[in-house]
Amino acid sequence: MEKQDIKDFTIEELEERLAEIPTPPFRARQISEWLYRKGISDFSRMKNLSKDLQKKLDTVFYISQPEIAEIARSADGTEKFLFRLSDHCFIETVLIPERERTTVCLSTQVGCKYKCAFCASGKNGFTRNLTLAEIINQLLFIRFEHTRKITNVVFMGMGEPFDNYENLVRAINVINHAQGLGIGARKITVSTCGIIPGIARFQNLGQQVELSVSLHAAEEKLRSKLMPVSKKYPLKELVPTLADYTRKTGRVVTLEYLLVKDVNDSVDCAEKLVDITKHLKAKVNLLGYSLIAENNYRAPEKEDVLLFANRLIQKGIFVTIRKSRGNDIAAACGQLAGKRKNEV
Ligand code: SF4
Repeated sequence: MEKQDIKDFTIEELEERLAEIPTPPFRARQISEWLYRKGISDFSRMKNLSKDLQKKLDTVFYISQPEIAEIARSADGTEKFLFRLSDHCFIETVLIPERERTTVCLSTQVGCKYKCAFCASGKNGFTRNLTLAEIINQLLFIRFEHTRKITNVVFMGMGEPFDNYENLVRAINVINHAQGLGIGARKITVSTCGIIPGIARFQNLGQQVELSVSLHAAEEKLRSKLMPVSKKYPLKELVPTLADYTRKTGRVVTLEYLLVKDVNDSVDCAEKLVDITKHLKAKVNLLGYSLIAENNYRAPEKEDVLLFANRLIQKGIFVTIRKSRGNDIAAACGQLAGKRKNEV
């Protein structure tokens, strides 16, 4: 029988798999601590397992290793990691250090099928979903190769997380689990471009994971232009779905708004955004557009972002302004393409 990647199991799934070998389920927690807490990737180094068990595990499982192809470091401290997968696909992961927190932005897919106008990830189309192990390995590489302690995780890298729903939820389980990476649910954020069935499913997760939705325009015609996904999941259906999500979970949704000069930064755009945000009792995360080579959109000045933010604040909206990070290494929001430098 072909060996299985042990990192492709959640801890509960591993308990069940071990029972089939047969091995007592509590061993799953010991193994997970070696994998996720200590970064050990060799069964023979898992000292609280007997030699016999180590050998048995070695016949059934293998332990995948993240393979790094390139690391780029920005002047602002942001780092971008290019990983080569076993089928030679590439994905990117970003580490964003701030004063007291360190956020890792994870990818969930190779490419993306949604082709948002301002995003490099969708330009080359969709290749495939990442496995659980491929999602977790991005985090493990940084955890054990970096001196900074990871405090926050955002699913905001390449791909649409809800299109890889099963592995997204399984990854959240491992990231949050006490014997996994042990990162609190409130420190984990899933960002979607507005996949209505995914949001509807996610509200039953029963965990305090944060949800953010890329809105980028509060009016249907403009949103469909910026985000073609809006033709399939229009605002008139997305907004009630989010209202339902907040009602059922009691959690505040964050609306991501990427400000593009002379495209979605007018007074009218701000007013429409106020209406939706108030209706949803949501908050807004504002970010200035970061240039990518493939389009003609322009980045706003710092003053434009502040002006737009003030228009919202004056109407009682809670607004955070996200500083664009890692522009010089193409690691900012929308710039991840999963390419080597010489391929960009
Ligand atoms: S913004 Fe997200 S959903 Fe849109 S193309 Fe990029 S990765 Fe895909």
